[in-house]
Amino acid sequence: MSSGSEKAAFRAVGAVCDAVDKVMTGRADNAFCAIRPPGHHAEPGLAMGFCLFNNVAIAASYARRHYHLERIAIVDFDVHHGNGTQAAFYNQPNVLYASSHQMPHYPGTGYPTETGAGNIINVPLAAGETGIAFRQKYSAIILPALRKFKPELLLISAGFDAHKDDPLASIMLVEEDFRWITQELMCCAESYCESRIISALEGGYNLDALAASVAVHVKTLMGL
Ligand SMILES: [Zn+2]
Repeated sequence: MSSGSEKAAFRAVGAVCDAVDKVMTGRADNAFCAIRPPGHHAEPGLAMGFCLFNNVAIAASYARRHYHLERIAIVDFDVHHGNGTQAAFYNQPNVLYASSHQMPHYPGTGYPTETGAGNIINVPLAAGETGIAFRQKYSAIILPALRKFKPELLLISAGFDAHKDDPLASIMLVEEDFRWITQELMCCAESYCESRIISALEGGYNLDALAASVAVHVKTLMGL
């Protein structure tokens, strides 16, 4: 942490909540929040893993309260398990939390047996797995669950540390894999929630890989 962390953390939460307002009122089709610190490791009572506030979880709660949404989905493709988001919604069937993550790896949670009220879906990836396995697992498990859930709003915990060049993990995704998952999630959002997507930056620690991956993600969200 630094002397600027508090301000940055409040702005990060504020950005995602502002994106909820813009997307829910039709002022934006979708949104990407280029924020740090990330959020998905922060539990309701515990800062953890670079995360001070759980930006996406707070935005989901905000959306539920202010726009009376009954079904919100959060898809988390950061290479680490979002223990904080899972903890925030563990027994809340109106929020679907689906995560793909390297396992075993930090923070040690995210087993497929952690299912909450049936609303938690954990899909482990083994070190060294490539986009082929990533796409197969999304196609077989997470995307069908998302379609069955029929979310009214889709939030993305968009971490790019599953990139092959990332120094913190050992999954071998490339930019095209991030384009693919973005397109698949957009397709689902188009079917069920008028294309409403709010994506928030989580991890990503090779700055060149992060920049290239975020650019692909944002261009895809923009329909480019
Ligand atoms: Zn991460």
